[in-house]
Amino acid sequence: MSMIEIQAISKWYGSFQVLADCSTHVDKGEVVVVCGPSGSGKSTLIKCVNGLEPFQKGDVIVDGISVANPKTNLPKLRSRVGMVFQHFELFPHLSVMENLTLAQIKVLGRSKAEAAEKGDHYLARVGLASQRDKFPGQLSGGQQQRVAIARALCMDPIAMLFDEPTSALDPEMVGEVLEVMVGLAKDGMTMMVVTHEMGFARSVSSRVVFMDAGRIVEDCATHEFFGNTQARSERAQQFLGKIL
Ligand code: ADP
Ligand code: MG
Repeated sequence: MSMIEIQAISKWYGSFQVLADCSTHVDKGEVVVVCGPSGSGKSTLIKCVNGLEPFQKGDVIVDGISVANPKTNLPKLRSRVGMVFQHFELFPHLSVMENLTLAQIKVLGRSKAEAAEKGDHYLARVGLASQRDKFPGQLSGGQQQRVAIARALCMDPIAMLFDEPTSALDPEMVGEVLEVMVGLAKDGMTMMVVTHEMGFARSVSSRVVFMDAGRIVEDCATHEFFGNTQARSERAQQFLGKIL
């Protein structure tokens, strides 16, 4: 069964069509990588999944819930879908532990102690147990991104969305963040990941979605995407030729 079902969504900014009839899905426990040139609509697509961006046509069904249905409680749905962005977006004035517990307390109504227990659990999981009382500004970019991932996990998400989680990092910090993501995938987390890290795509994802100019041009098994060049669109071949 699909955890995320994107059904023919189209979106316009004024007269500019940013997404055109995009359909794909992410099954439970599956990792799907979304790639494509800058401006092709990857971030917009992933934000539509949890209703952070409205769309004018089509629907997204997350765990059986329609994002387009005006009766859907979007904040509640969003609280169940973890999102990690390129720029970590931690609260700079809060400690690492406060970053991890804030939404648990405010949105899920957990007690401070319960939230801190979860926070410590996931902080250890991303290898940052000793950093709980620091402030984001005292951490490296790679550490901040790992905190952002731990923060999302504290909400017990049914799926995780990543939008270029390693693009803003210095090269030596990319590995530590990918390692955390590989661990999540191994544990069966459902993940939709916008990334240009083709090593990650190749070794972890089961499908690759390739976008160009607001359309999903390719949606195929990872081994097909990297394997049979004949089967790939010219645009995807050009893209891979540039980044591989
Ligand atoms: P990607 O993540 O693949 O680089 P985006 O989804 O960020 O692409 O953007 C897709 C297109 O939509 C780009 O041409 C971008 O300029 C345009 N776009 C993004 N956000 C807005 C906005 N708020 N208003 C108008 N155009 C936008
Ligand atoms: Mg983007």
